[in-house]
Amino acid sequence: MKIYMNGKLVPERAAKVSVFDHGLLYGDGVFEGIRSYDGRVFMLDEHVDRLFRSAKAIDLKIPLTPQGVARAVVMTCKANKTLNGYIRLVVTRGVGTLGLNPYTCSKPQIVIIAGNIQLYPRKLYDDGLSIVTVGTLRNHTESINPQIKSLNYLNNVMAKIEAINAGCMEAVMLNQQGFVAEATGDNIFVVRGKRLITPPPWCGTLEGITRNVVMKLAVEDGCDVSEQVLTRYDLYTADEVFLTGTAAEVIPVVNIDRRSIGAGVPGLVTRRLAAAFRRFAGSTGTPIV
Ligand code: PMP
Repeated sequence: MKIYMNGKLVPERAAKVSVFDHGLLYGDGVFEGIRSYDGRVFMLDEHVDRLFRSAKAIDLKIPLTPQGVARAVVMTCKANKTLNGYIRLVVTRGVGTLGLNPYTCSKPQIVIIAGNIQLYPRKLYDDGLSIVTVGTLRNHTESINPQIKSLNYLNNVMAKIEAINAGCMEAVMLNQQGFVAEATGDNIFVVRGKRLITPPPWCGTLEGITRNVVMKLAVEDGCDVSEQVLTRYDLYTADEVFLTGTAAEVIPVVNIDRRSIGAGVPGLVTRRLAAAFRRFAGSTGTPIV
């Protein structure tokens, strides 16, 4: 595998970052997870935009233009023939001193890995996922805003540990007001009849790119879509619940906290949207040439 590092493609074993990189020392940096489908990079501009917004929010200057970053992603996919894959785009603060001060760091490091991911077994897309709400609250928007896709994922890792220890693969995280925020690596949707509801970003939610695509597809399919505050009551009483994410795509949730959601099987609206998402993902994107 060839890894993109600061403008060069290097062999995997040569792709190294310094132990003094603040990305390692403090989780100081930002990233994106991107998919390619059938030789095209899915929603590349949206991912690059979000990367630059995350970087801006932490006062990190990416030493490339957005177009340059997009070109680097395509180049890395091409070099690795990543026609159907998962791309990890990382920008670290760079090498600094042992102190926190980010302004001592010389130069942000840009790394792109074009690989693969299989988050959930195929069977769960047919049968649905069982998840739990956990005690670890999503970061407060004024501590680390969850809209920043930062290298500091400990909040999500802590929640994931709770989920796994409870025998589940994913957790629902609430915010400090007790409202539903999101899952550890996915956004969450509730379906009531033909109404689709997902929490607004101020609830402590990453504005997922899959989320936004699914909202658009749902409107086109005649659903009423809105961002609203959700509580656990809304999850337990929903007709359907599903998660969205770049790696997960659209995955049904059939059980939360050992309670059946709706009929306890993946619902029609979720299945229609999952199919619409797959069709859309296979029909658009930036060509890997
Ligand atoms: N929330 C969190 C915390 C995430 O890490 C992700 C990405 N894995 C998502 C939501 C989904 O966002 P996207 O659809 O852009 O992948």
